[in-house]
Amino acid sequence: MSEPLQSLPLPLGARAPAKVNLCLRLGPVLPDGRHRIVTLLESLSLADELTLTALPPPGGFVARGRSNGDEVVCEGVAGENLAAAALRCFRRASGWDGPPVHLRIDKRVPVAGGMGGGSGDAAAALRLVVAASGLGAQQGSWLLELAAELGSDVPSQLAPGLVLGLGAGERVQPLPALPAHAVLVLPAGVGLSTAAVYAEADRLGLGRTSAELEAVERELAAAVGEGGAAGTDGAGQLPLDLFGNDLEPAARSLHPPIGDALQAARDQGAALALVSGSGPTVAGVFPGEHGAARARAAAAALAARYPGATAAVPVGADFGAVRAVELEDT
Ligand code: ATP
Repeated sequence: MSEPLQSLPLPLGARAPAKVNLCLRLGPVLPDGRHRIVTLLESLSLADELTLTALPPPGGFVARGRSNGDEVVCEGVAGENLAAAALRCFRRASGWDGPPVHLRIDKRVPVAGGMGGGSGDAAAALRLVVAASGLGAQQGSWLLELAAELGSDVPSQLAPGLVLGLGAGERVQPLPALPAHAVLVLPAGVGLSTAAVYAEADRLGLGRTSAELEAVERELAAAVGEGGAAGTDGAGQLPLDLFGNDLEPAARSLHPPIGDALQAARDQGAALALVSGSGPTVAGVFPGEHGAARARAAAAALAARYPGATAAVPVGADFGAVRAVELEDT
């Protein structure tokens, strides 16, 4: 049996938004060795671009049962790509044996920067292959479980938006969007290993107790849950006092220039400056309707010191949705 390539509605495109952890509270080590956290993750308009096309097999047909042969091209990322692992896991878990595909990833999100670039790409690859396979109707908890196998930050990126992440970050609760704001992103130009930052946090004794984490979870849920921060008219205040990152001292210890970047963001008028995830990228929060213009001006002022400095706004699931693309776009 063989399957004609034309049965795939390709090429398809999807954006993989970066995430910023507006709040990340660190708890004890879980039995599986990961840390328990409570985190508020927000997807941003700074995004990688993914394009899925058919990979022409010899003769134009592919033998059923062939589960490998997909190709991922991602300039700037060495070694195994998390998006390739996502395609492989999807084929294994779903039994889909469609023709091999070519996935191109145009990186815009800083690599190893604490902005979830790899996790976002893996989640977008899953969205794309779900659409290409026609197995969309079967989406549900199995896709979330598959995403969690790939990494604790992947489930939260399956449907971009604002989410509360619990467990090791993989138990996700979607939340309504926050009041208007924008985010200044200051890349560090180098990467930090997530594992190294967590190990440094342990060395520094930064973890909170489970009871403290549960209190944070309740506070966040009350402040940003349904009818929370944005209010019914969307004109509420950002709960900046609840934001912050427990990993910051660990990331700064491993990469001291983070301190200057935090100060630079504050000097440019950010109401709050924080390290994103495990760093070293720094995010500055600019609240209000004029936040985007102020964040853009800050990015322009800091571009010479921080190459790649940019302003981003929060985005929802539509922004990362799969769409048909023209080959000329790819
Ligand atoms: P997180 O915040 O989820 O811990 P991060 O944003 O700090 O992660 P990533 O950009 O996801 O870090 O990269 C971490 C490592 O993952 C990189 O050093 C790279 O080797 C590997 N990697 C695999 N696939 C990708 C990808 N598609 N994009 C970026 N990095 C990838």
